[in-house]
Amino acid sequence: MSPGLYSPGPARRAPRCGRQAGASALRYISGSYPVSSPVLVLTHPLFLQHQPGRGHPESPLRLSRTLEYLEKNRLPTLEFRAPRLARPEEIARVHDPELLEEFGGLAGTHVAIDVDTFASPSTHDAALAAAGASIEAVEAVLGGTHRTAFALVRPPGHHAERRAFGGFCYFNNCALAAQSLRGHGRVAILDIDYHHGNGQQDIFYDRPDVLTISIHGDPAFAYPYFSGFRDEIGTGEGAGFNLNLPLPETVDGDRYRKTLAPALRHIAEFAPDFLVVALGLDTAKGDPTGTWSLTRNDFKLNGQLIGDLGIPVLVVQEGGYRTRTLGVNARYFFEGLSAAHCAASPQRRPANSPPAAHRIRHHVEPRDPQRVRRLAESTGFFSQPEVHVAEFTQLVMD
Ligand SMILES: [Zn+2]
Repeated sequence: MSPGLYSPGPARRAPRCGRQAGASALRYISGSYPVSSPVLVLTHPLFLQHQPGRGHPESPLRLSRTLEYLEKNRLPTLEFRAPRLARPEEIARVHDPELLEEFGGLAGTHVAIDVDTFASPSTHDAALAAAGASIEAVEAVLGGTHRTAFALVRPPGHHAERRAFGGFCYFNNCALAAQSLRGHGRVAILDIDYHHGNGQQDIFYDRPDVLTISIHGDPAFAYPYFSGFRDEIGTGEGAGFNLNLPLPETVDGDRYRKTLAPALRHIAEFAPDFLVVALGLDTAKGDPTGTWSLTRNDFKLNGQLIGDLGIPVLVVQEGGYRTRTLGVNARYFFEGLSAAHCAASPQRRPANSPPAAHRIRHHVEPRDPQRVRRLAESTGFFSQPEVHVAEFTQLVMD
């Protein structure tokens, strides 16, 4: 791993959208985007010092292999920075203070939290740095320097509930990002890890202001087993704002996108200002903890579909344990996401304003044909002649 990844200099600054001259509608239609939008990657040397133990799947190798790959095959759009450590009062936005106190007392020790969640002497600080990465991702997006930020962290967080650790997780980095964004607009969390995001479901279950959606292996056969079922929809004012989409044991990319596409439509109807993505790469072919078979091109297509929402996206690294393919799958995901982000016009509205109503445009924009084609391909609902009609119609629903 190159230590230079942690020290961004002027030479590492990525190009911005739209700077390349000569972008035309024809180039959008051909799938060649003008320039991709920059992605701020937040990662820290402490993440390599969290040591759950020999043979544990959540190993430091996961991160070092990803960084090695991204260094050798980097997108010009990636900018790297080391985040600060989160302060306890910041983490207390989503976790019980007693949990923080208990975890602080374990700093510097080896301890088993449960049957598969182990802490080493540096785990406490690594978890604080992971939380800090998600907070700095929020600050970068709110500050207007980036539309996309990636907290490339370990330990992961999406199984951590308000009052419980578990599933290799300590602090829920996604939930912390969402809560930090909440004062600046509407927020949705999309969890695309192979395993259900029980942590953010628990934290926001009674709230209507943060939409939580998780696409995962059915808990009838996949961890965490106790949650992630379709009938868990939220409670009280939060009823209807938690959506679980469990899938069967055998899922390829096409099958996956037949669930991802309607999930994204659901998010669009919620009209968030920001999207937090819990990025699990354990949906990939050959992952030792999963059963699905997504390829690098599937991750690229998934990134494109998410980017088509046209809103700022904060991505937080969760699972993914096949170290040989973590880097390439992450790279392809961001290639798709940032290209789509660049092609989409900014749609952000002022903070705290009511959601915009759906509207009908009476003209075709350069990004429309590509969006229609991807939607058609991902759903499989349309014939090729129907796709051609949609691409050239003069009435396009936004
Ligand atoms: Zn997972």
